[in-house]
Amino acid sequence: MKEIQNYINGKFQPPVKGRTLDDINPATGKIIGIIPASTSDDVQQAVDAANDARTAWASLTIDERVHWLDKIANSLESQSEKIASLESLDTGKPISLARAVDAARSVTNFRFFAKFAKDYTDEKFEMEDAINHVILKPVGIAGLITPWNLPLYLLSWKIAPAIVMGNTVVAKPSELTPLTANLLAEVIDEIGLPAGVVNIVHGSGPEAGKAIVEHPEISLISFTGGTATGRKVAATAAPMFKKLSLELGGKNASIVLDDANLETTIPGVARAGFLNQGQVCLCGSRIFVSEKIWDEFVPRFVDYVKNMKVGDPSSDDSDLGALVSSAHRDKVESYIHLAQREGGKILCGGHTPKLDSPFDKGAFLEPTIVSGLDYLSRTATEEIFGPVVTIHPFGTDEEAIKMANCTDYGLAGSVWTGDSERGTKVAEKIETGMVWVNTWLHRDLRVPFGGVKDSGVGREGGRWSLGFFSEAVNICVKS
Ligand code: NAD
Repeated sequence: MKEIQNYINGKFQPPVKGRTLDDINPATGKIIGIIPASTSDDVQQAVDAANDARTAWASLTIDERVHWLDKIANSLESQSEKIASLESLDTGKPISLARAVDAARSVTNFRFFAKFAKDYTDEKFEMEDAINHVILKPVGIAGLITPWNLPLYLLSWKIAPAIVMGNTVVAKPSELTPLTANLLAEVIDEIGLPAGVVNIVHGSGPEAGKAIVEHPEISLISFTGGTATGRKVAATAAPMFKKLSLELGGKNASIVLDDANLETTIPGVARAGFLNQGQVCLCGSRIFVSEKIWDEFVPRFVDYVKNMKVGDPSSDDSDLGALVSSAHRDKVESYIHLAQREGGKILCGGHTPKLDSPFDKGAFLEPTIVSGLDYLSRTATEEIFGPVVTIHPFGTDEEAIKMANCTDYGLAGSVWTGDSERGTKVAEKIETGMVWVNTWLHRDLRVPFGGVKDSGVGREGGRWSLGFFSEAVNICVKS
């Protein structure tokens, strides 16, 4: 069992009040670690450390900071397998996914922002009689709060641009999945990153997370998590005029047009629906299928999903592992019951799979497809964040667009078609921050990432991250 400590001012230390929380492996229900239940006292220590480190860190050249990011990336890369196994243990996700997505992207995030920041040149705007130089200055201390579904992937997505732009950081990973944030702290410690540049405080949202958001010396908050939590974060941070980025929930549509190539569309839509047990904010959990191909698509899609294997997360054969916790599994299951009450028909799944010990007590759930629901029903419009998708027929492209746009969320979506021009036209009318055509979760880190409506405020990625994690200052020089 791992006893995790906070990482503050370059030292591992226990929480001031000495309270702890259990870290549970959701695939077995066993306790695998103890983490600090940090309070505002620990956050205060982290802020003090971040404050002390600020001036020296901000005065390094960009090349010097880039060098530190590269060192972190190299060290993480040398431990890729360890990252994958810790992430699989903590989240319940299949090890193959943790290798391909979590471990790989965590390294790439540091490498990408190192190169991107190095290549960035300040903008200049010439006037007849003057020249404007727009320079990017550090904001100060960045408060970073992240969820459990992609723990190190999302933490590194924030830490890398924050520190490369000259800020210091107080970060709080999800209390459900602390292991890889701790590994990052070990890496940072081992390579000797100056003390106080990155401080990691573990603990619950309502205590440690809230203390970060409320702290007057933390002038920027980057939050990824649920919409209800995002609302609380905004209510505290906005009146303090903090820079704020909110990456929140989603209820994304996968739209299958009548000319889609089903050979590639069926696996693509299944991946969008069920990757990471459906626990990716971008997951396509509402599937709209042209009525012209409905009779062919649905049985083939159901067959494909029935063949997805749920089981031991450490096995390369498992397509789906456990959900993040029993409480979350119960919540997801309650939506299956709601779907039935709302008149839905379960086409496959709907149950806890029967697995041998030690997985018989794990938070597993079969991939589930529900048809026959009104597209405005609660099941079809609320974020479930699990392996449950609803499937609905549509007539015209306009009808599909209207159905896709009917939720309060606006994060992402995908359109599947044999005609990419037609797909792009449909994509342009979807009210989300991101839309894929004939693919899903195909990521270029230079592009803007984020949502509209209840899915959040602001964009991160590429130059949007560099802009968010800095203050743009214009210096106008008269000739
Ligand atoms: P959550 O909102 O419960 O928790 C997210 C983080 O916020 C955790 O670290 C938590 O401890 C902290 N937190 C909780 N209450 C807080 C408070 N009052 N003040 C400050 N911090 C607080 O979300 P979750 O259950 O961990 O993650 C799932 C949600 O995250 C889903 O809704 C999913 O769609 C969303 N998500 C969004 C994106 C995106 O990029 N848009 C990416 C991943 C996940």
